[in-house]
Amino acid sequence: MRLRNVKGSRETIATNEFVVQNEEQMKGKWHDYFGNDNEINIEIGMGKGKFIIELAKRNPDINYIGIEKYSSVLVRAIEKQTEEQLPNLCFIRMDAEYIEKVFDKGEVSYIYLNFSDPWPKDRHAKRRLTSVQFLKRYENILKDGGGVTFKTDNRPLFDFSLEQVGEADWIMDNYTYDLHNSEYAEGNVMTEYEKKFSDMGNPIFRMVCHPKNVYNND
Ligand code: SAM
Repeated sequence: MRLRNVKGSRETIATNEFVVQNEEQMKGKWHDYFGNDNEINIEIGMGKGKFIIELAKRNPDINYIGIEKYSSVLVRAIEKQTEEQLPNLCFIRMDAEYIEKVFDKGEVSYIYLNFSDPWPKDRHAKRRLTSVQFLKRYENILKDGGGVTFKTDNRPLFDFSLEQVGEADWIMDNYTYDLHNSEYAEGNVMTEYEKKFSDMGNPIFRMVCHPKNVYNND
């Protein structure tokens, strides 16, 4: 993603009511933050937030947390949420590499990854959000019965991701090389990148998977 430095974005993020500042202190306490016991779903690399804001509107009984590394994009999602004031949505500015510091075992019910950065060089494979390294991190925060959905239009990244699911000893629930013309198209919520790339004629790939060896949540 090409990033522009948005003036004042760091200040907005440091003071906005929908951005959690002390995220590591929230570990194990996210239900207190939302003030209910509803399940918690997260999107990692949410960009400007179109997808997660739409999900939060459609599903008021699910809590959503959007995670984004860069202030300059996150600030766009904050602007929209400041208008919407959805009580079941908040944001964290962080690198998802440290996700286990922020969520306790079993605290997250579902993880969405949309159009994640491809990191095309082999030596950067560990940084891909669907690498074995990241899947292991997700395994440590997911609730029993939880899972991950990943969408992209990048074929090498998708093929890599399919392989990593097997390598991490996860279960593949389903996958498609053409989401919009598949049995899974109904109810699909488009992301910013998904709209852009499908308008260009690119097929959208999607996989749904979950960890096999989920620890005991009790
Ligand atoms: N998900 C959005 C969509 O589909 O329209 C944005 C896709 S954009 C290509 C990828 C986003 O993921 C960028 O905003 C980037 O900053 C963010 N990102 C990449 N790696 C990340 C990481 N390790 N932790 C948090 N955010 C990350």
